[in-house]
Amino acid sequence: MSLKETITKNLNEIKEDIKKYSPYPEKVKIVGATKYLDKYQLEEYFNSGAKIIGENRVQALREKKEHFDNLGISDKISWHFIGSLQKNKLKYFIDYIDLIHSVDRLSIAEAIDKEAKKREKIINCLLEVNISKEESKHGFLVEEIYENIHKLKSLNNLNIIGLMTMAPFTEDRDVILNVFKGLKTLRDELNVKHFNGELTELSMGMSNDYKIALSQGATIIRIGSKLFN
Ligand SMILES: *Cc1c(COP(=O)(O)O)cnc(C)c1O
Repeated sequence: MSLKETITKNLNEIKEDIKKYSPYPEKVKIVGATKYLDKYQLEEYFNSGAKIIGENRVQALREKKEHFDNLGISDKISWHFIGSLQKNKLKYFIDYIDLIHSVDRLSIAEAIDKEAKKREKIINCLLEVNISKEESKHGFLVEEIYENIHKLKSLNNLNIIGLMTMAPFTEDRDVILNVFKGLKTLRDELNVKHFNGELTELSMGMSNDYKIALSQGATIIRIGSKLFN
């Protein structure tokens, strides 16, 4: 099977799973976690009909965007950033990024706001939350979200539209389920207390756990290995 055929088949399977597990399948978007693909393989991804590219490294994102610019198709793609963020690299993608999933600290939120202001742009963002409280994980702790909420909301060039999390590496289904449930509960609470229902997105679920995430209300799943193999 060609890569395009593999991706098409996997996309169809994932779409069936979305219908099966999500309470609102029409709201769910699939972000390809495309770090596994080089720029030519990424063309196959595009040709399979996929629309959203999620990159977690700035250098790779730049190379792939440039390749798609040369092909004249980059505006047919929604470009997402899903990796850890550094202030000095924001300038390389702020002009075209459609959603940043990984706003994991106040200082980076302020830096995005500043770069966006310079360009008179408003950047769509998700706050990354460390629900599982693992030391190794990026993201705001729940209490840090509440401590910083007024500052975050005062950043006028940042449009916060939801939350993102990563579940721990474990076989324990209940642990994973509780992390996703925790993100949804936090989102619902923030919507009532601070956002007036504006937090529409929950980015949660990867190849190994997206079905659980869907059952807990994910609106964005980030899929890598399951799409390309
Ligand atoms: C790689 C990656 C994924 C997807 O991982 P798979 O397990 O291969 O589906 C999702 N989110 C982020 C932030 C990633 O870096």
